[in-house]
Amino acid sequence: MATATIADTPYAPTHPEIRDAVRALCLKFDGAYWRTLDRERGYPTAFVKALTEAGWLSILIPEEYGGAGLGISAASAVLEEIHRAGCNAAACHAQMYIMGTVLRHGSKEQKQRYLPKIASGEMRLQAFGVTEPSSGTDTLSLRTTAVKKNNSTYIVNGQKVWTSRAEHSDLMLLLARTTPKEQQGQAKRTEGLSVFLVDMRETLNKGLTIRPIRTMMNHNSTEVFFDNMEVPAENLIGVEGQGFRYILSGMNAERVLIASECIGDGRWFIEKAVNYAKERKLFGRPIGQNQGVQYPIARAYTQIEAADLMVRKAATLFEAGINAGADANMAKMLASEAAWAAAEMCVQTHGGFGFAEEYDIERKFREARLYTVAPISTNMVLNFVAEHVLGLPRSY
Ligand SMILES: Cc1cc2nc3c(=O)[nH]c(=O)nc-3n(C[C@H](O)[C@H](O)[C@H](O)COP(=O)(O)OP(=O)(O)OC[C@H]3O[C@@H](n4cnc5c(N)ncnc54)[C@H](O)[C@@H]3O)c2cc1C
Repeated sequence: MATATIADTPYAPTHPEIRDAVRALCLKFDGAYWRTLDRERGYPTAFVKALTEAGWLSILIPEEYGGAGLGISAASAVLEEIHRAGCNAAACHAQMYIMGTVLRHGSKEQKQRYLPKIASGEMRLQAFGVTEPSSGTDTLSLRTTAVKKNNSTYIVNGQKVWTSRAEHSDLMLLLARTTPKEQQGQAKRTEGLSVFLVDMRETLNKGLTIRPIRTMMNHNSTEVFFDNMEVPAENLIGVEGQGFRYILSGMNAERVLIASECIGDGRWFIEKAVNYAKERKLFGRPIGQNQGVQYPIARAYTQIEAADLMVRKAATLFEAGINAGADANMAKMLASEAAWAAAEMCVQTHGGFGFAEEYDIERKFREARLYTVAPISTNMVLNFVAEHVLGLPRSY
């Protein structure tokens, strides 16, 4: 009787060919490349170009619009491998999934106009304008307004913060209020916000100002200001007032994909730590021979493996068209926490060298910290699970 291997089970690594190809591409972008960018707060143009040309960023776009038409688990494999190789997809991951709002809710004309160019990389749609300084996580309290001037134009006023990649994107997906909050009944709490595609090439310095924000890691994030910025009415996505629902429907994909990056980060930290624990010899033996060094590595590995199962479950549900809201949230929470625990373990395993720039650990440590806060913080995931899964009273 033939012996079964993991390859015969649902737990085999998904998309092995994609993983091999992405790994090979990432070899060209070593630690020195990322360290230089990190120091200069530069944008990884060559890396993004290589990913675009290889077609990895258009993997989720249907074939009829020039993409690969693959599912979320294929995109997850790409992002996990990028992070596992020590690279960082934050500069361009949104090019993969922001277009989902146009795909799901845009008109036929909008899809034909934008998706082929996004697929080829000719047009970048990787800026997502939702968070505002005063409303933060409380998205329904956002204050940026889009007022219809005539049938052809909306006038946008307000401010967004943490609009990542705005300086490296042609288009921004913008969520703005089209009905004043005081005119909304409580029953329609989630209505009154609308989604627009803003062509930043047209509006920059004509009502749109972008200011970079320096952050703890190299993230190319910005704050953006709208001062009577004009947006053609044809750039409204879907139905006016339904924007919050459209944005929410895209968030599950984002959460699964970010979770996959966290799994990749965690595996990078673990591999680094294992190698170092075997090589570094003190008191006449490898430090990895001490249980005090082994256990945190083994624990981090266990946590990443468990989180990976949750990420796979969320991706599977998403691909099957089943509401993956709870699972995508839980996957993102578990993966981001497991990655952060692995980061902490990796620094500790390396002792002082964990702090040295040339080991890349301190850079990845700073990068991995983000994902328990963004794109949604751990508390908000727990709020969601408590209220919507467990039926507990809403706490806020
Ligand atoms: C580097 C970076 C890049 C980002 N990129 C983007 C982007 O491209 N586009 C975009 O729109 N946004 C982006 N964000 C914003 C990100 O999504 C938010 O920072 C995140 O959702 C948290 O919102 P906040 O920062 O306003 O925190 P707040 O909403 O002010 O929350 C602060 C803290 O209070 C907690 N909290 C708040 N309310 C509750 C409650 N009811 N119960 C329990 N705890 C609560 C939160 O969990 C959090 O820990 C980015 C953020 C960062 C840091």
